[in-house]
Amino acid sequence: MSALKRGRTPRPAVGSATSIVTVGLMDKLGACFPQAHLDAEKMARLAGAGHTVLGYDNVMPLFSVVHESAALGCRVDWGAKNLMPTVSGVLCPTIADPLVVPLDFLKNEACAVPLEALAILKKTFGDEVAVVGKVFGPWTLAYHIYGIENFLIASVEQPSAVKKALHSLMEITIRFGRAQLAAGADALTLADHCTRDLCSPETYRDFLAGIHRQLRLSLDCPLLLHICGDTSDRISYIRSTGIECFHYDSIVPASKARTLAGDGLALMGGTSNLAVVRDGTPALITADVREKLASNIDIIGPECAVPLDAPWQNLRMIADEVHRQCN
Ligand SMILES: [Zn+2]
Repeated sequence: MSALKRGRTPRPAVGSATSIVTVGLMDKLGACFPQAHLDAEKMARLAGAGHTVLGYDNVMPLFSVVHESAALGCRVDWGAKNLMPTVSGVLCPTIADPLVVPLDFLKNEACAVPLEALAILKKTFGDEVAVVGKVFGPWTLAYHIYGIENFLIASVEQPSAVKKALHSLMEITIRFGRAQLAAGADALTLADHCTRDLCSPETYRDFLAGIHRQLRLSLDCPLLLHICGDTSDRISYIRSTGIECFHYDSIVPASKARTLAGDGLALMGGTSNLAVVRDGTPALITADVREKLASNIDIIGPECAVPLDAPWQNLRMIADEVHRQCN
């Protein structure tokens, strides 16, 4: 929790704002996808392995991108053991269509199960590790509700309708986030897929920076903003939101991320999921951790949801290396 805010810590933290689950970890724990997305005990057991098996300083039970969208009524395929859930179809055909939020949105199992899992994790771990929840920001929710193509076209052709839609979707993020805090989360991942190939830096500045600033003010906990891809052109805007920590992608080199983030914004992640987490040798993992430590990355770990076919032993090795190199 201190590392999240660039506070003093005995060593850099190890952790992830996104899923650390692999098929190997599911087998080891006896809790598997897709059941673990909708069974609070299995979900908590798998998330807890982030600490008990991998040695990370946080646990995070919302493994996929679909929970709030499923509760809103989007069509969801919960996937398989080796396949993450996906949203299909479109809930609202045009940006002007009002989104009707079901009254029992938080009671829908897609929201209720992770809330229960967070309560189990808080009860199990107390203050031993940071219990981190996860919400999606309005940009990602809009992909699921309006369809990516429709939404991106509208962001060019109907900017004021898009701004209005983003503001109403922000209320979903706030409601689910506050419920997660009430359930026991110490901090929240705010994942918003406004990556460079789908959202220009000017679009981030004009449509989203203000919303992320508002989310920071509306959610009473530290936030870890997760955006995949090349974000070097918007880290300065992210700094202006007041969000405490940015979970960044390995496309941005660690030293460059540190320079862009300055002294105020904590950094998490940056370790390549393919080259290091999935395919890395011990020597490569050692070198990667050394690079992150040299660049003062505050929380070391994978850049995004870990590939399901990665060996969990490599994830464990990242934590062991941080302990070893900081000893
Ligand atoms: Zn990601």
